[in-house]
Amino acid sequence: MIIDVHGHYTTAPKALEDWRNRQIAGIKDPSVMPKASDLKISDDELRDSIANNQLKQMKERGSDLTLFSPRASFMAHHIGDFEVSSTWAGICNELCWRVSKLFPDNFIGVAMLPQSPGVDPKTCIPEIEKCIKQYGFVGINLNPDPSGGHWNSPPLSDRSWYPIYEKMVELDIPAMIHVSTSCNPAFHTTGAHYLNADTTAFMQCLTSDLFKDFPKLRFLIPHGGGAAPYHWGRFRGLAQEMKKPLLKDHLLKNIYFDTCVYHQPGIDLLTKVIPVDNVLFASEMIGAVRGIDPETGFHYDDTKRYIEAAPMLSAEDRKKIFEGNARRVFPRLDAALKARGK
Ligand SMILES: [Zn+2]
Repeated sequence: MIIDVHGHYTTAPKALEDWRNRQIAGIKDPSVMPKASDLKISDDELRDSIANNQLKQMKERGSDLTLFSPRASFMAHHIGDFEVSSTWAGICNELCWRVSKLFPDNFIGVAMLPQSPGVDPKTCIPEIEKCIKQYGFVGINLNPDPSGGHWNSPPLSDRSWYPIYEKMVELDIPAMIHVSTSCNPAFHTTGAHYLNADTTAFMQCLTSDLFKDFPKLRFLIPHGGGAAPYHWGRFRGLAQEMKKPLLKDHLLKNIYFDTCVYHQPGIDLLTKVIPVDNVLFASEMIGAVRGIDPETGFHYDDTKRYIEAAPMLSAEDRKKIFEGNARRVFPRLDAALKARGK
């Protein structure tokens, strides 16, 4: 079985974006603020938006199941207040849940959180509870920078985040560390802000003792871990200077990396540097990089090919990356699959 742990609903019907634009207009002029119930999207529209896009590509490329969360760049936690984020997260998560019910063999949900800059992260807990317990979601996306590129939240090791971690441990779910759109023109959203955030989150964990407080907490750092694998020697050296344990003991019982790296040399490096038990298959399609690589003739985000061709990996390693590690890091996914005899 091939499990893609990183997919977003980037192809949602246009009505969703229209509703969001009305909501944003409503921040300035409350008389035009739409109600959640004003958004009408039929099951047929949802089916079309998936069957002709993500599901079509999954079938073509040979993956079976995608962990599916709302479109990351649309989370835009920096817009409006907690109420705005809360309504928006509720709508987006519900759509992913409906997709998972329409295509139960192919999609299972991961929740977006109703974060808002300067608002206590514990306000996200009711949405987490709902998504995991009622919708059967198996994880969450946690934004370390709800400001959208200004980085004025405390680091992930700060105690203000702890209520979320306590809930994650209680529910036995991991978080993908995932920022949203950049509203800072210095940082391109998917080319700079995402990768910066991956690297920054990794470093925040390295400098702290977060996993001493939460030995069972699990973070999935996407986009191949940003700069972390490429600069592994720098991070090992910095940890040594700070008298931290070896990274394998300090971080690798809690931090995992996905394979959203869009060329063969990048995957070769990732799988050479990072232990295979810490690498999970993902493509993040249909996402930031949708084109065809003229050097290979295949889509950049067809990452399954790179894992199949990576010289460091045995057949057993590939099975871990494609399936085993995802079942271990997302125990609720494993339980859901086993309940279906898979
Ligand atoms: Zn993503």
